[in-house]
Amino acid sequence: MISDSGNLPHPSRRRFLAGAAAFATPLILPGIARAAVGPQVRTVALHNLHTGEKLKTAYWEQGRYIRDALGEINFVLRDFRTDEVHPIDVRLIDLIQTLRRKLDTNASYRVVSGYRSPKTNAALASKSGGVAKKSLHMQGMAIDFSLPDRDLRTLHKAAKSLKAGGVGYYPKSGFVHVDVGAVRYW
Ligand SMILES: [Zn+2]
Repeated sequence: MISDSGNLPHPSRRRFLAGAAAFATPLILPGIARAAVGPQVRTVALHNLHTGEKLKTAYWEQGRYIRDALGEINFVLRDFRTDEVHPIDVRLIDLIQTLRRKLDTNASYRVVSGYRSPKTNAALASKSGGVAKKSLHMQGMAIDFSLPDRDLRTLHKAAKSLKAGGVGYYPKSGFVHVDVGAVRYW
């Protein structure tokens, strides 16, 4: 369930995790070992500025992507102009998750653009020289966003430091573009 209130979509799983965390507390050494290889749960927090929809969800746990959560992400990042839903590349979801951790923020990404259908992209490209005709947005491999609690310059710098794909800086429009194509900056 996705709603404007940003409610958590998987209460049963969250209860389970909360219980697991309580049991795990005394096991200090394994906890430290796990921390060294990354988080056991990967989460995203998205706020689509066009639709007003908010989603905060764990999408990866214990080595596996969670199908339902990926479906919700795909929906929130759909082409809002045509309502077309397209799979978002999990590498992109991992990239923005890593970026969120690097910036040490719990805030939701303010999403300007996720998936774009070829029709939408062509319409945008004809109006703006800033929109590529073969945009990775059409493959679910790119996202444009900002963060409410970090300035755009900080976000841009952190995104570039990951060296994980393309990063574009659009200060006049108020967003940073990241994609999981070749590493390149503009
Ligand atoms: Zn973009």
